[in-house]
Order: sequence, then structure tokens, then C-alpha cells
Amino acid sequence: MSQSHGQLDSVMHESRLFPPPAEFATKSQIGTLEQYQELWNRAAADLPGFWAELAREELHWFEPFTEALRWNEPVAEWFVGGKTNASYNCLDAHLDAGRGERTAIIWEGEPGDTRTLTYAELHRQVCKFANVLKGLGVQQGDRVSIYMPMTPELAIAMLACARIGAVHSVIFAGFSAEAIADRNNDAEAVMVITADAAWRRGRALPLKQTVDDALKKSPTVKHCIVLDRVNEAVHWEPGRDHWWHDLMREASEDCPATPLDSEAPLFILYTSGSTGKPKGIKHTTAGYNLFVKKTFQWVFDHRDEDVFWCTADCGWVTGHSYVVYGPLSAGAAVLMYEGAPNHPAQNRFWEIIERHKVSVFYTAPTAIRAFIKWGEDLPKMHDLSSLRLLGTVGEGINPEAWMWYHRVIGGERCPIVDTWWQTETGGIMMSPLPGAIATKPGSCCVPLPGVVPKIISSGADLVADDPKQQAGDKTEVPGGWLTITQPWPGMLRGIWGDDERYREVYWTKAPGRYLAGDNARRDADGYYWIMGRIDDVLNVSGHRLSTIEIESALVSHPAVAEAAAVGRPDELKGEAVAVFVTLRNSAPSDELRQELKQHVRTQIGALAQPDDIRFTNSLPKTRSGKIMRRLLKDIAAGKESVGDTSTLEDYTVLATLRSDEE
Ligand code: ATP
Ligand code: MG
Repeated sequence: MSQSHGQLDSVMHESRLFPPPAEFATKSQIGTLEQYQELWNRAAADLPGFWAELAREELHWFEPFTEALRWNEPVAEWFVGGKTNASYNCLDAHLDAGRGERTAIIWEGEPGDTRTLTYAELHRQVCKFANVLKGLGVQQGDRVSIYMPMTPELAIAMLACARIGAVHSVIFAGFSAEAIADRNNDAEAVMVITADAAWRRGRALPLKQTVDDALKKSPTVKHCIVLDRVNEAVHWEPGRDHWWHDLMREASEDCPATPLDSEAPLFILYTSGSTGKPKGIKHTTAGYNLFVKKTFQWVFDHRDEDVFWCTADCGWVTGHSYVVYGPLSAGAAVLMYEGAPNHPAQNRFWEIIERHKVSVFYTAPTAIRAFIKWGEDLPKMHDLSSLRLLGTVGEGINPEAWMWYHRVIGGERCPIVDTWWQTETGGIMMSPLPGAIATKPGSCCVPLPGVVPKIISSGADLVADDPKQQAGDKTEVPGGWLTITQPWPGMLRGIWGDDERYREVYWTKAPGRYLAGDNARRDADGYYWIMGRIDDVLNVSGHRLSTIEIESALVSHPAVAEAAAVGRPDELKGEAVAVFVTLRNSAPSDELRQELKQHVRTQIGALAQPDDIRFTNSLPKTRSGKIMRRLLKDIAAGKESVGDTSTLEDYTVLATLRSDEE
């Protein structure tokens, strides 16, 4: 339970270490451990000064800022007095530098159609669409909902909003009408941008129809712009509904970026809903833009010749920061793919990598677990030699899944960056820098320069705050709450319309610092290990166990594809360990159940041995692919109804799980 005191017991030990390949490190901007440490220490010694210097170098300023940071806990203002524009930094800045003919977006649609946009072309489209928005009365500060498939127009819509200072709220194009209406109303959106339909596994998903339903309950929305993606027949409300292509035909290409205050809101984005009802996270202009640009360059070791592919949908923060704002600010070539990983076949991703010579590939553990299940023969059919770096985000990665990724996809030559961050943090907070930091499977390794984490035990310090905290400190810290002690430019500026909830969720339980809501530990090499959500800790006979360690032990068994561990109330032990397991190929049986219990026992100890093992075909996940342990916990406890399911990917999973109960 989150209220109980004390630290988390770590039962897992991982000793494999993968130093950066020499050739990789030689070409890296940050190519030695000492360089990383020097940078981190310099940042920690003077955070505002460190970021101010980068802000002057990396962003275009219409007016310079006068103060780097004004901190009134929990409200941060970065680069006070300055005026900039994220759309300018992503587009015009490259045109100014004579780089307009470079590739910005390489796009592949699910049916196989492709398009390539240079920075000059993307700039032209964004300017036109920004004029379209203005033409329909959208003003600086207005909120615009975007409910679109992963097409270049989605990025164009985001950047056009940014250009005129409208605040976008991207809603994953798969959410229900109810979820759209909730978000429209919470943000008081004046417009929705959508498409007739989206391609998903060869079928047309009727987006416009869903938006029509949502608009019946969205009184603030005056206009709806519709991209013709699939050529589906749609219902039409004259005056309210407008075709994208009609408006674009008339629009002027001339639209200078509006100089915006550093703290002008850039977007609202609702969290994934893993732990409860989604929160509308607010991000602002300059700090966010700087943070995603620098973290993109550091973590992905950006090089001019790279083709960067982040598989996340723009409906998630990963798509905002590492499909759009980070890579485009850095002038990178970004690959964008519209559809499912298994359409028309389960080798689609490998085909894309081969076809477009992707060099950096960034995806989620949930996808990697699916690839493992689909078998290594598929990637082996393709030439993946263009890859030089791999990344993961979204959940902890089980060490055996990491090893598979390293071996089968990375050909044992590509470093893996396991990046820990959140919608709230705006960008990556902890990750190896691939040229400088030796990696360990399952660890997000080290904090990035300018990020000062501290693990505490339920409100009390495990390690006293040390103003001279240094990179490379090797004090081991047992599992506890992960907090961030200093503001950083990409941090959220609040929960939309709910200052009180913002203070409550992030700033009260661990006063004076940002509470991430995750548990973590630090090992004797100073590496960080995320141990799962604070609310998901298991308390077994007085020992506090983390979900990921038990799950990783299960996933290391060859029969297991995925596992989720939760606590179930137990009179004797306080909590018993209940696990839900999906299998690779094997059939469920009592023998296998016994074998898995024994396996966990030998891997990590008797304490963690599961009391119940349930086999299932799928686990409940958020739309962004994260396992929703809180729902499984309710099911394991035999509860009649479960918590907020608005972001659940597949509602039938819950029913199936219940009917599986003996
Ligand atoms: P909600 O806040 O609504 O419950 P959510 O936390 O899943 O949803 P996101 O902001 O999408 O919403 O996810 C951030 C969370 O994802 C982190 O707090 C952490 O639990 C998990 N996470 C992300 N990356 C990693 C990683 N590399 N290792 C371990 N966990 C990760
Ligand atoms: Mg969260």
C-alpha cells in the first residue's frame, strides 16, 4: 500500500553490462563517461545558467529572455520575458540555415502509399494550414482538438496551431466519442480536426462518425475540419464541417510565426490512464521546446545522416516529443507510419526499416513482447543493417525482452536506450547516453544533464539531500519513491483547469519536490531501476515487492510471453502474489503452473513465488500499450466493478478475464 512506510525489497539481480561499442562512441557527441559526468555536474551546479546557455544557442528568440528561471513552487516560469515560437524552431530555423531541402518527414501509409516532405514543403503546408485556422476564427490561446490518423497532416495541424499560438489537444484516434467529448469539454475546445476515417489493419475506422457523436456533447466546438484520408462517405453539417483540401486550396502560404511568450501554453495532453482517470497535462512553449530538442540530440545521439523512427502515435506524449517537436527542432529526418505493426503481415516494421534504411528505432516494450511472440524468423528475413541505435519507452522492459531486442533486432551491435519519462516530464529524464554509458538490461541507467532525481522513503529521505550530488555517485539506494528535486524546462506547468489537483498529485506527499508516482532503486554503480508504480507495490509478509521484478522472472521462462503481477488480499501474508500470464506457444496446464512457480522461486526467491497463476490470452492494456495492473488487482481481489476504464484498449479482455476465474 502506498501509505505504508519503509523501503522496497529488491529481489532481482542483473549483472550483464554492455559498454558502448568503440566505433559508436568515437562518433558520438558525448562519447565518454567523463564527458557525461562533466556535463551533468556542470548542470547541477547551476541549473538555470546551464539551461539558459542552451536556450540561447538552440532556440530562435524574437525577444531575448531576461531571467532563466522564476521558481515559485510548484509553478515554474522558464526563460521569462522571452518570445519564441515552436513552429519557427521546427521549420523556419532550418530554412534560415539553408537546410530547407533536407528531408523532414518520410511517411508510409498503412496501404503502402508513401510521401516525403522536405522542411521547405512542410513549412509551406504549415503556413497554409495556420492561415486556414485563422480564417475560421481560431485565435491565440484557443484550444483545438486533433483526432487524426498518423499522417503528415497530423503533424501539420499541430505545428500550425503552434505557429499562431493556439493550444492543441491531440486525442488518440481510437478513443470513443465519450472520451473525445470529455476532452473537448475539459479544454473548452473551439475546433476539432479529424479525418473521414483511418486505416487500421486494412479496415476503415470511421473517425468522422465518432467525432459527430462527440460533437453532440461538445457545446464549445464551432468548427470541424476533415481530412479526406480514406474516401469514406460522411455525414456533413454545413457551416460546421469543412474539408481540409477545400480550405487549403484557397489558403495563402504567407504566415509568419507569432512571437509567443516563453510560457504561452503549447499543448494539453491527457495521460494514459494507467493509474486512474487521465489528467490533462499542460505544457508551455520555450522550456518544453528546448528540453525535447536537447534530450533528442543527447539520447538518440543525433547525426545528420540518421533516419529516425519513433513508432509512437502522436496521441501520446512520445509522439509529441519524439515524432514532432524534438526531431524537427533538431532538423532530423523522421519516419512516420500510419498503421498497425501486423498489417498486412507481422513483418511490417522490419520491412519499413529495410525499405527506408532506418538508423534509429524507438518503440515500446509492449511491441517488443509482441515481436518476440511472433518469432525471430520474421526480422531475420530482412536487412536490418541500417540500424545503429535502439530505444524503448512506456514501461519497464523485462531483461529477457531487452536481450532479445539486442540480439535479434540490434544484431548485438546497437546500443539500447531505455528511456524513463512521463507525459508530465515533457521529455526523457533518465536514459543511457549511448556513446558514454554502459547499459544494463532493465535499467534506465542515469539521469540526463539538468535532471536531479532523488529516491525517498514515503516522505522521508533515504539519502539526505546533498547539494553536491555528483554524477557517478555510487551510493546504493534501496527501492522507494522516485522524486525530482529541481525544476527542469520540460516539466508540466499544471493540470488544465485544476491547479489544486496539480499541487495535490505531484507536490504534497513529498514536499518540496516533484513526486513521479513510480518506485525506483539505485544500485551500487549509481544506476537507476524503475520498480513500477507506487500504487502497485505488493506487500507480502511485511516485504514490499515490486511488480516488474516478479514479471521479469516469469518472462525469462521460455513459455511466457507477458506477465502482470498484482497483490491480492490474504489473511496470513497481508497480500498474496497473483500473476496473470500470456503464453508464447505452450498450452496452459497445471504442470506449467507448477513449473512457473518453481521458476520464480529459483530466479528470485521463495518470497516472490506466485500464489495464483492465471493463464489468459491477453492482458488489459491502455491504448498506449501499458498493462493496467489496477484492473487486474480488482479482478484478483474478486471485486464486482473495477476503476476507470476509459483508456482501456479492449473491453472484452475484462469479461474474458472474469470468465476465466475458477
Ligand atoms: P496515468 O498517469 O494516467 O496513470 P501513465 O502514467 O501510464 O498514465 P504516461 O505519462 O503515458 O501515463 O506514462 C508514464 C509512466 O510510464 C511512468 O510514470 C512510468 O510508470 C512508465 N514508464 C515510462 N517509461 C518507462 C521506462 N523506461 N521504464 C519504466 N517505466 C516507464
Ligand atoms: Mg502517470
